[in-house]
Amino acid sequence: MLHMKCCPKCEGDVALNKDYYGYYVTCLQCGWSKDIPKNKVSSKSSHDKHSKLALAA
Ligand SMILES: [Zn+2]
Repeated sequence: MLHMKCCPKCEGDVALNKDYYGYYVTCLQCGWSKDIPKNKVSSKSSHDKHSKLALAA
């Protein structure tokens, strides 16, 4: 996945990657990289659980 001109350093193109530890983004132009916290993903899944519960009730 590519995010055009999202780099805070050079405004280059940023790619979303995934490894064993989770997601991270890297800039294709300058090599800037940043980890994306895992709790961002888990909070989304708990939201799904909540919506499922609301549906059952
Ligand atoms: Zn950059």
